[in-house]
Amino acid sequence: MSGQERKIPAPKPNAENQPYFDAAAEGKLLIKRCAACGESHFYPRAICPFCFSDRTEWRRASGTGTIYSYSVMRRGVPVPYAIAYVTLAEGVTMLTNIVDCDFGSIRIGQPVKVVFKPTDGGPPVPMFTPA
Ligand SMILES: [Zn+2]
Repeated sequence: MSGQERKIPAPKPNAENQPYFDAAAEGKLLIKRCAACGESHFYPRAICPFCFSDRTEWRRASGTGTIYSYSVMRRGVPVPYAIAYVTLAEGVTMLTNIVDCDFGSIRIGQPVKVVFKPTDGGPPVPMFTPA
């Protein structure tokens, strides 16, 4: 652990994903599920990426998942950080960061849970820490 917090750039919500960031501000992780084909997806979109239906609905995710792959960025950055793909219990994969742990202990397949991290002047963003 570095003890130093990385400054996280503020996301720029738009009409399509505003509910996602509103929920994040309340500590809730939302994903989208398509009522037409039943598939969940991430990043949230108005149109289902699987069947192109516009019948997508917000669902609250459990906030638990496992690390699919990761990379620790140490060189050329002010504060090291771990970028990762996390597969949620709901089956969708998010590009995110692993935080609040010893980066040397991160493993593929490791169970993780969501935490919300403040950003630089914007809504908080979901990241993951070992469960
Ligand atoms: Zn669909």
